[in-house]
Amino acid sequence: MSETKLQADGVTIHTEQGMYVDPAALTNHLPELHYNQGELWMEQVSIHELAECYDTPCYVYSQQAILDVYQAYSDSFAAIDHQICYAVKANSNLAVLGVLATAGAGFDIVSRGELMRVLAAGGQADKVVFSGVGKTKSDIEYALTQGIGCFNVESISELTLINEVATQLDKRAPISLRVNPDVDAKTHPYISTGLKDNKFGIAHEEAVAVYEKAAALSHIDIVGIDCHIGSQLTEVEPFIAALDKVIELVHSLREKGIELRHIDLGGGLGVRYIDESPVSIHDFAQALLPKLTELGLPVFFEPGRSMVANAGILLTRVDVLKPTAHKNFAIVDAAMNDLIRPALYQAEMAVIPMTLPSEGIDTDDTQPWDIVGAICETGDFLAKDRLLSLATGDVLAITGAGAYGFTMSSNYNSRPRASEVMVAGSHHQLIRKRETTEALYADEILWQNAK
Ligand SMILES: *Cc1c(COP(=O)(O)O)cnc(C)c1O
Repeated sequence: MSETKLQADGVTIHTEQGMYVDPAALTNHLPELHYNQGELWMEQVSIHELAECYDTPCYVYSQQAILDVYQAYSDSFAAIDHQICYAVKANSNLAVLGVLATAGAGFDIVSRGELMRVLAAGGQADKVVFSGVGKTKSDIEYALTQGIGCFNVESISELTLINEVATQLDKRAPISLRVNPDVDAKTHPYISTGLKDNKFGIAHEEAVAVYEKAAALSHIDIVGIDCHIGSQLTEVEPFIAALDKVIELVHSLREKGIELRHIDLGGGLGVRYIDESPVSIHDFAQALLPKLTELGLPVFFEPGRSMVANAGILLTRVDVLKPTAHKNFAIVDAAMNDLIRPALYQAEMAVIPMTLPSEGIDTDDTQPWDIVGAICETGDFLAKDRLLSLATGDVLAITGAGAYGFTMSSNYNSRPRASEVMVAGSHHQLIRKRETTEALYADEILWQNAK
């Protein structure tokens, strides 16, 4: 590898064989993860101890890393009235929700189940916004009964249904319309939501008419306006373009006598997984604050990924090394059922060793490996063409796994889902037991008529 050189960011080296991610340089960019005498630590707990204690595969989250991001949002928007509504779907473990509820966060939910989790974790219903394109009657009933803060409405038919349910319950339903500002978030097509051919939101041109319809409904309270343009956005420009469109609508509505009480700019701020350079929360705020201050309305944000992605890692053990003529496969005990982002979004996540070689890193000793699971799918990979020095039994950490990791996991191939652990200072605690295999079929019923 002598002819290759470190990229400008000092973290990655690209060769014809693959990508080398410098573990020490990478962790310099990650909160609460560091190497101490060649051993990986999170806060004041060694990963070695966690792997011994909880076995693998196991998700581990840093409480401090989560709180620091929450604080960064709060501080950055301190100049205006604001509410941070953490997007529960990114990581819905009760312990994570509890940490954020205690810190004062509100929540963005997309199902009745997520609202139940928020309440079970000690969150307040009146600080919850309910997003999602397909709310059912029972979702709406439950949310209204619990005193939800706001429904983010995505269609006229949903608006009508909410009004009907509210009428039956003799309640008034607080609503925002989710408008589709038709801006290009310049992110992966599967996580881009603000273009007019996406299924999300109400078209910008139709928004005023739909608000007028809403205003005429008996049991609807119009409280705000909402947009969410996509996920893993690294630039601030699409957010500004969306904000401009939303502000334009606030003024049009004012002219029609419809006064809003908040605007909600959704989530979507990107994170650094390996070598991306997303805008920081501080710079994001600085770019938006002048317009928000002038508007003078309280603002809501719904961050998911940026709140928790880099607070979490997935620990996995190398079970089998399988070098072949064309490729080397390292088969690990986590798989696409545990972490689907690489398979679903072609996401690149860093894979770093729990223990650095004692003689220091010599990239000449590395081989290119595909880190794959044991599932019967070619798409079952966690990382491809990574230059690593591996032995069976090694524990690896996949970083950036705090968001859309466990929550997107499944039981495909009858694999019990991983355990989850929270770290705080030198304390660590199981926050979700590893599933038992028996639990996977406990609710199934043998077919009695089988011949
Ligand atoms: C997924 C989602 C979010 C969170 O997005 P991130 O990219 O994780 O910040 C926020 N709001 C809505 C409506 C969503 O669907």
